[in-house]
Amino acid sequence: MKTNILVEYVGGGYSGCIWEYNYFYIDENSKFHDIMSSGHGGITTQAEANNLLTNGHNDWTDADQVSIYHLDNKDELTVFAKETACPNIQHIILWFNEYNSPIAEPFAICSKCDNELTNADEIQLTDFRGCGGIMTTADTLLCYECYSSGMCGCCNEYVSSDDLVYLDNEGKWNKGSDRFEEEYKNKAAISMLEDGLDDVCTECIKSRAGEIERDEHEDMLFQSLATGKPDMFSDEMRWFWT
Ligand SMILES: [Zn+2]
Ligand SMILES: [Zn+2]
Repeated sequence: MKTNILVEYVGGGYSGCIWEYNYFYIDENSKFHDIMSSGHGGITTQAEANNLLTNGHNDWTDADQVSIYHLDNKDELTVFAKETACPNIQHIILWFNEYNSPIAEPFAICSKCDNELTNADEIQLTDFRGCGGIMTTADTLLCYECYSSGMCGCCNEYVSSDDLVYLDNEGKWNKGSDRFEEEYKNKAAISMLEDGLDDVCTECIKSRAGEIERDEHEDMLFQSLATGKPDMFSDEMRWFWT
């Protein structure tokens, strides 16, 4: 029988979600280890595992739904890292970290820099989305460095590079983009720079711009009512009437 292998199979159940895939490990002494057996076809015993490996399929899993990864074969582990759903990769790497065998070290691959990650602590999942029912999955797996470099300094959420704005300390916050053409976004960028922020997401810029606009309008309205300047019917106060 094959040994030192990670086996992926469909464990059934759980409505079309990633969690249908289940995993076990056969160590170098042919001993079975259950890593994930969430579905109703989940394999929890050595006998069931032997049955699947001998026949190549079982009642729940067709032959083409079983993948075997030899842990001494880097090419196979690369395929595993590239084709497995991100949360499953994280779960499996964590399992092997705890199992702690020098001959069984699968790795994940950072979606951005392609670094190999053998430690589950280094793995950050992002781009969460629903995948049916109450389940969610993540589409992107990043190393810690790539994750931090895409993080908004204001709300601390990870955002894709398209949504991240670099406020650089020269005050040239419109670098390479026309995002700040609007007056209040410009003011927001200045005020966020003054707060010591470098990278912020477009949502945070928008919300800061909204705050500044509201504050300015409140002041202006107060001034107008108190002093008659600006005149309530002037162009400057048009925002109040529209
Ligand atoms: Zn990376
Ligand atoms: Zn933000």
